[in-house]
Amino acid sequence: MGRESLYSEKEARKTIWVCLEQEQDRVTNVSLELLSKGRKLADSLNWPLTGLLLSGSDLPPTETAFEFGANEVLLVKDGLLEKFRVETYTKAAFETIINYKPSIILFGATPNMRDLAGRLAVRLRTGLNADCTDLDIKKENGVLVCQVSGFGGGVLALIEMESHRPQMATVRPGVFQQIKCETAEKPRLKQFSVALDPSDIFTNVIEQRSSVAVDLTQAPVIIAGGRGIDGDFAPLEELADLLGGQIGATRPPVDEGHIDRERQIGQTGVVCRPKLVITCGISGAFHFIVGIQGSETVVAINNDPKAPIFEHADYCVVGDVREIIPQLVDLFRDSKSSISFKLDGELNTAIRMN
Ligand SMILES: Cc1cc2nc3c(=O)[nH]c(=O)nc-3n(C[C@H](O)[C@H](O)[C@H](O)COP(=O)(O)OP(=O)(O)OC[C@H]3O[C@@H](n4cnc5c(N)ncnc54)[C@H](O)[C@@H]3O)c2cc1C
Repeated sequence: MGRESLYSEKEARKTIWVCLEQEQDRVTNVSLELLSKGRKLADSLNWPLTGLLLSGSDLPPTETAFEFGANEVLLVKDGLLEKFRVETYTKAAFETIINYKPSIILFGATPNMRDLAGRLAVRLRTGLNADCTDLDIKKENGVLVCQVSGFGGGVLALIEMESHRPQMATVRPGVFQQIKCETAEKPRLKQFSVALDPSDIFTNVIEQRSSVAVDLTQAPVIIAGGRGIDGDFAPLEELADLLGGQIGATRPPVDEGHIDRERQIGQTGVVCRPKLVITCGISGAFHFIVGIQGSETVVAINNDPKAPIFEHADYCVVGDVREIIPQLVDLFRDSKSSISFKLDGELNTAIRMN
C-alpha cells in the first residue's frame, strides 16, 4: 500500500474495538460473536476491549456488550443515528476512531457493516480484510493475522498489516461462538459526541425489507444436500423435520434452482455452527467446508470412499444417499428421544449398520 494511513502503528493505542451493530433495541448476534473473539484476542495481549456503539435509541443496549466481555462501551448517541445511514455512520465512526486511534477494529460482515467498514478504510487510508474465516494476533507486536480464503480455489491466505492502522477486518455471522464473559473490573460506559447535521445525509430510505426467512446460523441441526442428491431435497426435509432442524445446500443445487440461495452454506453462503450437520452427496470442497467447520458433529454420506468430505467428518457413511436417508427417517420417525441421545445412541448404531 503506497500511502500512509492517517495514524501510524506508533500512534495507535493498544486496544481492540468491535463495531457493535444494533437491530431494533438489541445488539446483533454477529456483534456478540466478535466481542467473544475480541475478548480472547485482547486477553492474549492484555489489551482492553471496547465496543463502539453508534445509536439513536434512548436506551442503547450497552449492557449486553458488557456481558460478552467488553471492558468499555464507547457510545455515540444522536437522533440522526437512529436508522443506519452510511453517511452519518461513517462520519460518526471516523471522527471517533481518529480521536481514540485504536489499533484494531472488527466489524460483522453484514450489508450495513460492510458498507461502513469499506468507507472507513478508504478515509483512514488503511486496509480491510473482508470475510475473514479466522483471526489471530501476534503477541510480540499486536499484529492481527486474518485468515481469508480466496483466489477462486482452495487457497487460505494469512494477511497481516505491518504499519497501517487501524487494522480492520469483517467477519461473517456464525464464524465465532458467542461466549458470555464478564470482566474482572467494572466495565465503563463512555460517551463521545460528533456534530451531525441532517445535511450530512444525501440518501433517502424509502422502505426497508428483510428477505431472510430462515437463519441457518441459529439452526441446531442441518441436513445439507449437494449435487449427489440430484435436486431431491424431499427426503432431507423429512429428516430435518424429525430432528428439529433445517435443510441447507452446497452451491450447485442452489445454482440449478433446486433450493433458495439463503440456504447455501459456505464461503459465498452462510457460515453455521450447528450441533449436528449431516452432509448428503457433498464432495467436501473447501468453499463448502468453511461454512461447517465450527459444527459440533459432522456426519458425511457419500458413495465415494475417497471423497474429501470424509477428512472433515466425525462419522463417515460410504453409500448411496438415496438409500441411507430413508433408513434414517424410518429410524427417527417414532422416536421421542432427544437429539443428543439420538446422536450418541441410535445414529451411531444406524451408521454402524450401514
Ligand atoms: C469463488 C467460489 C466460491 C464458492 N462458494 C461456494 C459456497 O459458498 N458453497 C459451496 O457449497 N460451494 C461454493 N463454491 C463451489 C465449490 O467449489 C464446489 O464446487 C461445491 O461446493 C461442490 O458442491 P457439491 O459437493 O455438492 O458437488 P460435487 O463436488 O459435484 O460433489 C458431489 C458429491 O456427491 C457424491 N455423490 C454422487 N451421487 C451420490 C449418491 N447417490 N450418494 C452419495 N453420494 C453421492 C459424489 O461422490 C461427490 O462427492 C464456490 C466456488 C468458487 C469458485
